Amino acid sequence: MKKEKRIKKDEKVLQAFIKIYCEQKHQKTGGVPKSNALCPACYDLLSYALKRNELCPLDPKPRCKKCHVHCYKPEMRERIKEVMKFSGQYYLRRGRVDWVYKYFF
Ligand code: SF4
Ligand SMILES: [Zn+2]
Repeated sequence: MKKEKRIKKDEKVLQAFIKIYCEQKHQKTGGVPKSNALCPACYDLLSYALKRNELCPLDPKPRCKKCHVHCYKPEMRERIKEVMKFSGQYYLRRGRVDWVYKYFF
């Protein structure tokens, strides 16, 4: 896959994973998400992950889990791992096996 295309596709998945995590963990009141926007912490995490994804020095890019570079700061790595685990299970239950297989940190 071409780098540009890979970046766009990964962006979509990162957004979807962080969005559902934020909705379920930080915004849920009585089962209804308050808004579509991310909370500040999740917004920061998404911005950070998008930047890392865009600047990834490896081509083809491996799954971050398998990467030997690990460009994430330890704190951010822990946070994205937690998001991927939580949202991976969420999307797995909804049949997005393709996303989960590729992106599980
Ligand atoms: S952790 Fe590795 S694969 Fe993931 S974005 Fe950073 S350098 Fe690329
Ligand atoms: Zn959040």
